[in-house]
Amino acid sequence: MIVILLGSPGSGKGTQSKRLAEKFGFQHLATGDIFRAEIAAQSAVGQKAQDYLKAGKLVPDSIVIEMVAGRLESGGKYLLDGFPRTLEQAQGLDEMLKRMKSSVDLVVYLTLQKEEAIKRMASRRTCTGCGEVYNVISRPTAVEGVCDKCSAKVVQRDDDSEATAAKRLMVFEDLTHPLVAYYKAEAAFHEVDAAQTPDKVEAALSAVIESTKAAR
Ligand code: ADP
Ligand code: ZN
Repeated sequence: MIVILLGSPGSGKGTQSKRLAEKFGFQHLATGDIFRAEIAAQSAVGQKAQDYLKAGKLVPDSIVIEMVAGRLESGGKYLLDGFPRTLEQAQGLDEMLKRMKSSVDLVVYLTLQKEEAIKRMASRRTCTGCGEVYNVISRPTAVEGVCDKCSAKVVQRDDDSEATAAKRLMVFEDLTHPLVAYYKAEAAFHEVDAAQTPDKVEAALSAVIESTKAAR
C-alpha cells in the first residue's frame, strides 16, 4: 500500500506521518529528513542538496527521484512525506511504481491557512540529534533547548526562519499545490483539516486509511 501525505510546510505532515507509520506499520519515507541526514553526514547527495534546503528551494527533481527510487522496494508499505513535491516527481513516482506493478493507493491533503503555517514554522524547534519536533508554544521541551528524548540540542531549523519559511510557502503554492488536481484525477483523494489538534488530525487520517484498506 502506498499512501502520500500532501501539505504545505508547517501543515504537520512529519508529525502525523510518524504517528501513522507506527500505528499502521508503514515505512515512513520523508525526503526532507533524508536530505537533512545526508547533509549532516556530508555525503555526495547531501552536498548537492544543502544549498537548496538552506534557501528554501526544492532540490532538483532528478536528484530527488533517483534518491527515492533507491529506497522503494517492491511490495513495500510506504507512507510518503514530502515526496512528490512537483508534477515531474509525481510522474517519476508513477513510473517507478508501474515497474513494480504497484500504484498510489491513497493521497491525503492536509489543508492549512498560510498565516497558520507561518506561525507554526516560526514556533517549531527541531532536535539536532534525533529529529524530534517541538513547538515553543504548543509542545516545549522540559528543559529549554534540550531534547526530552536524547538530550541533544534543540534548535530552529535554518529554513524555518521567517524569510525562508515564507519562501517555502511560495514554492509550495507554485510547484506542489498543482499536485492536488493531479491526484484528484488519478488516485483516491481526501482532504483533512490540519488546523485541528494533532490528535484530531490523526483520527481523521486514520479513518481515511482504514476505509482505503477495507476497500482494497
Ligand atoms: P517542510 O515540509 O516543512 O517544508 P521538509 O523536511 O519536507 O519540510 O523539506 C525540507 C526541504 O527539503 C525542502 O524545502 C526542500 O529543499 C527539500 N526537499 C524535501 N523533499 C523534497 C522533494 N520531494 N523535492 C525537492 N526538494 C525536497
Ligand atoms: Zn533528540
